[in-house]
Amino acid sequence: MMGRNGSVNSMRRKEVAVNHSLSNVVVGLSLCAAARERKSIAGRSQMSFSLNPKRTVAELKELRSLTGDENGAQRVAFTKTWATARNWLRKKLEALPVEIHTDAAGNLWTTLRGQSERALLIGGHIDSVPNGGWLDGCLNVLAGVEILRRISAQYDGKPPVTVRLVDWADEEGARFGKSLFGSSACSGNLNLEEARGLKDRDGIRLPDALKEIGVDFERVKESGKELKDAAAYLELHIEQGPVLLDLDLPLGAVLGTFGVERHAITFLGQAAHSGSTPMNRRKDAFLAAAKMSPEIYRIAERNGGVCTIGSCTTKPGIVTSVVEECRITLDQRHLDAAALARMLAEARDASARFASEGNVKVSWERLWQIEPVLFNNDLIAMCDEAIGETCGKRHRLPSGPLHDAAEVARAGVPTVMMFVQSLHGISHNKIEDTREEHLELCVAAFDKLAEKAMNWVRAK
Ligand SMILES: [Zn+2]
Repeated sequence: MMGRNGSVNSMRRKEVAVNHSLSNVVVGLSLCAAARERKSIAGRSQMSFSLNPKRTVAELKELRSLTGDENGAQRVAFTKTWATARNWLRKKLEALPVEIHTDAAGNLWTTLRGQSERALLIGGHIDSVPNGGWLDGCLNVLAGVEILRRISAQYDGKPPVTVRLVDWADEEGARFGKSLFGSSACSGNLNLEEARGLKDRDGIRLPDALKEIGVDFERVKESGKELKDAAAYLELHIEQGPVLLDLDLPLGAVLGTFGVERHAITFLGQAAHSGSTPMNRRKDAFLAAAKMSPEIYRIAERNGGVCTIGSCTTKPGIVTSVVEECRITLDQRHLDAAALARMLAEARDASARFASEGNVKVSWERLWQIEPVLFNNDLIAMCDEAIGETCGKRHRLPSGPLHDAAEVARAGVPTVMMFVQSLHGISHNKIEDTREEHLELCVAAFDKLAEKAMNWVRAK
């Protein structure tokens, strides 16, 4: 467990001054900023000059070589490599006039005290999946570090509002199968009953793994007090999908995270000999289930969401028998709760129709469900504006995957996310990548958003 670190000594102040002068480098916005844009940036406040997005890219590479191998990032939460990454991060942060501590759930908080207690939060996660990409989660954290440097330098260590960077613990859930652990403990949404029983591949229980890093499982929800003065939460992330890539856009403002309805659907017919049973006498559970496949594409098309049949199992599952039982899983997602409910109802109706056409039975079982989480309209507008100012082209999009930001928003803190384009539209894979120009742009745009949000918090 990491202790409190509240002192600001003169040596640190000197380091801040050095950092400040080092970072007086013009931000490289050559890619999508036209000369006109560059001129207006040059005319703007000091802030554009003390931010150094190239340093963020360099630090991402440094972290990659420290905690990755030929198969990708290896910063699985609560492991040695993860601890190495966090210590490395801490060293970077200790150069600033900040307080650093770990909360009751193992989240790492860095606080730059401002003139007001009201706090602007910037979040990310330094943990990765095994063989993960070099940007997922840590881009957010390292952009946050750079923004803390800029704000600290610009406001002489005392910004108008308090600014805090949080590195959430175990966002990925790679080891225990429970994602958003640290942020859901903090938001109060973590189901303790369920989490208490989780085990990893080696049979180690989650509470025991947490004890190893000094976290008492029974007290993890005490981390909720960290949100006491939280007035806004910002998170930058790679998109992890192909939407921005296909539109040829570097950045997008995120509207919220999809609600999810996840069900198992079982069709029940009758096993019968594949040779002796005429086609018109069959009760073929697979035929009914298979009709669901094109149907969910029509449902998604009509309602504007996404639907996936991710698994299909048949019984008896042999080559010489008509399928008696066919179980498929259906995952449906939408940003709009009413549209999500409609998609679910349409899928239920279709399954009943296909069952009756095929003379089989159908039953549904809910596996999991979460409401859509909508981000704050004011912050979305600021995010959009920051993107427009940085690269001239704006776009708003929903997030398919869940993120820590959804948990913070569910806790009632006004929240927004910014996405940067992913090359190949792929993540959770070592080939995950983003063009370096886009990485620099996202740090610059995210910094602008942070400044706008800070002023918004101050004025509220
Ligand atoms: Zn992530």
